[in-house]
Amino acid sequence: MLQTFSKGGVHPPENKFSANKPIENLGLPKQVSIPIAQHIGAPSKPVVKKKDKVKTGDIIAESQGFVSSNIHSSVSGTVSKVGEIIDTTGFKKPAVIIDVEDDEWNDSIDTGSEIIRDCSLSSQEIVDKILQGGIVGMGGATFPSHVKLSVPEGKKIDTLVINGVECEPYLTSDHRVMLERGEEMLVGIKLLKKALGVNHVLIGIEHNKPDAIEHVSHLVSKEENIEVYPLKVKYPQGGEKQLIKALLNREVPSGGLPLDVGVVVHNVGTSLAAYEAVQKNKPLVERVVTVTGKSLSKPSNFLVRIGTPVRDLIEAAGGLPEDTGKVVGGGPMMGKALSSLDVPVVKGTSGILVIPEKDAYRDEEFNCIRCGKCVDVCPMGLEPYLLKQLAQLERYEECEDNAIMDCMECGSCSFTCPARVPLLDYIRLGKTNVNQILRNRKDK
Ligand code: SF4
Ligand code: SF4
Repeated sequence: MLQTFSKGGVHPPENKFSANKPIENLGLPKQVSIPIAQHIGAPSKPVVKKKDKVKTGDIIAESQGFVSSNIHSSVSGTVSKVGEIIDTTGFKKPAVIIDVEDDEWNDSIDTGSEIIRDCSLSSQEIVDKILQGGIVGMGGATFPSHVKLSVPEGKKIDTLVINGVECEPYLTSDHRVMLERGEEMLVGIKLLKKALGVNHVLIGIEHNKPDAIEHVSHLVSKEENIEVYPLKVKYPQGGEKQLIKALLNREVPSGGLPLDVGVVVHNVGTSLAAYEAVQKNKPLVERVVTVTGKSLSKPSNFLVRIGTPVRDLIEAAGGLPEDTGKVVGGGPMMGKALSSLDVPVVKGTSGILVIPEKDAYRDEEFNCIRCGKCVDVCPMGLEPYLLKQLAQLERYEECEDNAIMDCMECGSCSFTCPARVPLLDYIRLGKTNVNQILRNRKDK
């Protein structure tokens, strides 16, 4: 029987319309807007100004501190503004706006297609290259990758887990990366393995991608200590804690991290980006994005320069259908509605989902009937109905006591609730307030 995690989880209907669509290069936009904070941690500091000429891959904002990440120009052209834009979160964010003139790459970057397998760099040199390249977790979490590779003293890592699960219904970008860029991804995995000094690598792929399982299994067949594990299909198996449970039967403690149980998790897209940063000196300036939806005429997987407006992706996927009710950044479970099509693709954009009007409305909410279904499906073992009530009553200290910060915002509770209570909306609100309390406590 296929392995999976034990606590909670749901089975949303699968709509992987773009699964068989090879990655297409979207080409250059006219202008890019590149936010200077595209990662968890301290925002970077711009090092360019209006009218500066930049090449593709030039650094435009420098990392500030350990948990931070460099930002590079994804195009060549002239900086038209260093100011603010509305990004995918709907808030104003500092950004560098560049008018595209050409596609001249920084001379140090190898833009050739030859796969470079050998690497004589030390572990620390690999981590440094990943830091320089501005690599962050590309599954959506955007945690700076060099931080995950810098294991704190006293912690011992024995296993690297590679996340090829892609459990969000609709999204297929990781699937295509495994199929089309598997060889480079595998070199990247070996570099991450070397950087961490671990012997053991497990690659988790859900069973609904048999072609990816077969292809990656074939690629690793001659590798020692790198194994592919087909997993039962269950959402949210792509969560780090759920994936570790599914593959290794280890429980990450409440408030803890994978490294507390000897594990580091990286996504398949991040492994490819690590390959490019280390072997090609290529920073993170583009990524694969799924553009999909039931009513879209041409659901696709595009290779997109960071900073490209979402509007360009939708145009290339057949244009915005008339019946569109909502456009979401990410998948239907964890994604967030976009306020405008002018927002740019960022390092964490794995997908754009167009939802028709008839599916985009919010169901009428009824009173909680105490069925307990939200508790049953919560993969973090929380009591979503209780957290919702506490957040609604602004009893944030009690939210904290009831481990609200463990909520991974997977949306399984809202998805399953027969009374259509938007549990996650309230829980997110509660988390924001608890976060503020925690920050205030730290500042005292
Ligand atoms: S409470 Fe959080 S972790 Fe639990 S099901 Fe709801 S969204 Fe997921
Ligand atoms: S699933 Fe909905 S109705 Fe059932 S206990 Fe949770 S909030 Fe109440």
